[in-house]
Parts: sequence; C-alpha cells; structure tokens
Amino acid sequence: MTAIVEATKGNILKAARLINQGKIVAFPTETVYGLGANAFNADAVARIFEVKRRPRFDPLIVHIAHFKSLSQVAETVPKEAEALMERFWPGPLTLVLRKNRGLPDLVTSGLPTVAVRMPSHPVAISLISLADTPIAAPSANPFGSLSPTEAAQVAQGLKYGVDLILDGGPCSVGIESTILKLDGGQAYLLRPGGIPLEDLEKAAGRKIYMRASSIIEAPGSSPTHYAPRTPLLLVKPGQFPRELKGRKLGLLAFSEPHHEESFKAVQVLSPSGDLMEAAKNFFTSLFWLDAQGLDFILAEEPPLKGLGLAIMDRLKKGAKRK
Ligand code: AMP
Ligand code: MG
Repeated sequence: MTAIVEATKGNILKAARLINQGKIVAFPTETVYGLGANAFNADAVARIFEVKRRPRFDPLIVHIAHFKSLSQVAETVPKEAEALMERFWPGPLTLVLRKNRGLPDLVTSGLPTVAVRMPSHPVAISLISLADTPIAAPSANPFGSLSPTEAAQVAQGLKYGVDLILDGGPCSVGIESTILKLDGGQAYLLRPGGIPLEDLEKAAGRKIYMRASSIIEAPGSSPTHYAPRTPLLLVKPGQFPRELKGRKLGLLAFSEPHHEESFKAVQVLSPSGDLMEAAKNFFTSLFWLDAQGLDFILAEEPPLKGLGLAIMDRLKKGAKRK
C-alpha cells in the first residue's frame, strides 16, 4: 500500500524529490487529487497511464506554478488566452494551447496541443515550485471511476504503483477544471468544470460553444467516466421510477430529498441549494453511497446553471453503462 503523509513542508519537499527522480506522486489541488509526474520525463508519464489503466489516447493536463513556465510547455499563447489566464489563474481553468515541441508526445497523446493550468492549492503550487518542473497530472483514480477529493479515496482506488500520497485535506472546489480551447477565432468548452461557463463568457466577452473534447470526438471511444460501481440512474427532482420499488436504493439529492422513505441511504449535496457547496460534496457523497451495498443510486438532476453544468456532465457520464 502507498503511504499517505500529511502535506507538511518536509513531506512536500520529499514529494518534489520523488518527482525529480521520475517517481509519481498524488497531491491535492483545489479541484480533485492529481497523480503527478515530471511532464518532461516520458517514462514517469508512462507510469501514470499504467497505474491508472488510462488509455494512451487520453491526454494529460500539465500543471505549472508560475507564468514564466508557460513557454516551456506551450509554443504560442494567443492574447485572449493570456487575458483569461490573468483573470482565472491560479484556479480551475485549463486552456488548450499549441504545444511546445520539447514536451514529450505521450503527455498530449500525440496531439499538437497541450492542456495547461495553474492550480490555486498551496500544496500543489509548492510541490511544482520545489520540483522546478511542470507536472503532468490527471485525476488520481483508476480510469473511468469516481474522482478523489480526499487522500484516503486515492489510496482506496490506486492500491499499488503510486510512490507517495500527500494529504492536504478535502478539495475546496471538488470538481475538475473547466477546459477551454481557442481555435480558429472561436472559443470552445471541451469540459464544463470548476469555473462556470457564465463567468468565462463574461470575461471573454463572447459566446463559448460546447464541444466534446478530442477523446470523445474520436469514433468509438466514448467511455464511462466518473462512474461509481453501483449502477447510477439520473432522475428529475421528485421523479421515482416505480419499477425500482423494493430494491436497495440510494439517493443523491441536490437540495431537498423527495420520497426519502423509499431509500436506504440518502445524501444531500447542498441543503440550501448552493451549487458551489454541491460541487464540493459531489464525489465524496457518491463514494459514500457507492460503499452502502445498494442495487442502484438515483441521482437528481441539478439546476443547469453555474457549477450545475459540471455536476450534470459528471452525472451523465457516470450513468452511462460500460
Ligand atoms: P483529467 O486529467 O483526468 O481531468 O483529464 C484531462 C482531460 O483533458 C482529458 O480527458 C481530455 O479530455 C482533456 N485534454 C487534455 N489535453 C487535451 C488537448 N490537448 N486537447 C483537448 N483536450 C485535452
Ligand atoms: Mg480524470
């Protein structure tokens, strides 16, 4: 089993040394826990794909701690991207830019572009700074399963192969970054996430179009993602499929649980209906429901605005069966 250590100064330094030795380390960010490797060490990056059982066609996000590191990973940065970085970095916004040729192709799955972000979590920033290299890091979970927002969930999902897990407590945003691509004069949302679309459109002063990211665009590769082991069903608030009566059911309610008596286990994402609180609790609530030995988890659709869009995206993908 991988050791979980508290993210003290000494342990972050230890983790940074491991990164420099080509090892892989799980660490907290404000979105979810990441599994990081030196982005310029292709062998270490390859281990991330192996340990997660992640298909090699699914590119990683590169994390930087300083604006000056951007040129190491990206070749050109359009003015508009620069303005968005100034507004939203450090924070849960990932930008897809032209890749620097020096970055191993494995990181970007052979794409000519690279996804980059600057996390706002102090442990992440300190780890990247001490390692003094951009860190390629996907979420620290087996491919396709729930994303970890606590260190113990990392250890539960990835029992072997991770060299160290830094525990920095629960993640404050709780849902992955928003991914934005500027392409041919247009702006595309590749993944809804921790920065609401409305905020991005306001800052960019233009409409942002929805477009599934490269992996989803690839024919025949629409994997289940963010999925608990228990089958997940998406329902409208208050809806209860009669045919499930008598089964062991769990409910993931947004704010107000309906038909509570029909469920063995209930989680409410935000009693006051606050979408930021709902996002923060989302994965942990699903982890908990998934451990209750249920036949089905029913998840109520959140309102489709603000972070509700990102929650709904995870629910839809989690509800797809393999
Ligand atoms: P994860 O790190 O697990 O949150 O996943 C990162 C996601 O970022 C991938 O699944 C892709 O959808 C997206 N991504 C990474 N790099 C690129 C890129 N160069 N172009 C488009 N999407 C990307
Ligand atoms: Mg992931």
